[in-house]
Amino acid sequence: MNRDKEINAILQRLKAKTGIKGNIKVRLKPFKKKAASVSLNRKVIYLNSKIIDKLTNEELEYLIAHELLHLKHGIFHTKEFEKELKNLFKEDLQLEILRRFFNNKILGLE
Ligand SMILES: [Zn+2]
Repeated sequence: MNRDKEINAILQRLKAKTGIKGNIKVRLKPFKKKAASVSLNRKVIYLNSKIIDKLTNEELEYLIAHELLHLKHGIFHTKEFEKELKNLFKEDLQLEILRRFFNNKILGLE
């Protein structure tokens, strides 16, 4: 399944919601131990290609939102970061994603 269009639509929607600007790209990468990652310098959000087709739309949106907010707040999960993420998502989908795809073993998000 090709989720490019969906990913782009989510990205545009989240950028508008969060006020994050710039040319931000989303790429797929076959991570072993994480669901997603971000390069602050390159403004590239990486999603795990191994799980991308298994994610629900909401989980996909959550991962993109999480990484996008790092572009605004920096690499750490600061209070401001967590607050803005909570405003976008009532539930902490991170735990659900870790449980489903990584057996809770490792920190699946950066
Ligand atoms: Zn993070």
